[in-house]
Amino acid sequence: MIKEKTKEILQNLPEGIDLVVAAKDRSREEIKQAIESGAKIIGENYLKQAKANYAFLGAKVKWHFIGHLQKNKVRKAVKIFDMIETLDSLKLAEVINKESERIKKVMPVLIEVNSASEPQKFGVLPEEVVKFEEEISRFPNLKACGLMTMGPFTQDSEKIRPYFRKTKEIFSQIKNKNQNSRWKYLSMGMSSSYKTAIEEGANMIRVGTAIFGPRQREK
Ligand SMILES: *Cc1c(COP(=O)(O)O)cnc(C)c1O
Repeated sequence: MIKEKTKEILQNLPEGIDLVVAAKDRSREEIKQAIESGAKIIGENYLKQAKANYAFLGAKVKWHFIGHLQKNKVRKAVKIFDMIETLDSLKLAEVINKESERIKKVMPVLIEVNSASEPQKFGVLPEEVVKFEEEISRFPNLKACGLMTMGPFTQDSEKIRPYFRKTKEIFSQIKNKNQNSRWKYLSMGMSSSYKTAIEEGANMIRVGTAIFGPRQREK
């Protein structure tokens, strides 16, 4: 099933759209099946799981961090990950910069946008993203490459559409302002919403359930 689902999603993706396989709470054998079916990027929410999976599956795929990153985990995270999709504060940017400098790495990051301005959610508020992007440009070991958003939690993707649209507008605004080639990823959409997200301009989607089935604790 995992193999068929992965292939089906990859085959139906329009050109230029990257699939990030959201691997939280999946076994390494499950993740391996997705990789054998063509998955190139694995998204991890938890450092402990990421370390174990990375040790097993290694550098034949790219690793993206998509969970909430705590500052005391940054030292380990910058070693493993090819991209951190969830930069959400200046303090965290400072720590990622410092730890990346230690290992002489320039860390690609996406700015996480709290696109529906929900008080319980992580992410930079929409009206603060442009300024935030300017502020982090002073960190030489950080490379901001675009935006990531979750949107409000609902299975109804039409309810998320306006927030995808808003995030795309901010993405374009920064792109037009900077005119640089590093600013290129817009990570939006999950299993129930990735098609809508693509219609609204996403070029990176994060999909778990549609590949692996329901998570254990939901079963
Ligand atoms: C789990 C997760 C996903 C994937 O969600 P599914 O509904 O299982 O596709 C995407 N993004 C983030 C940040 C996640 O934590």
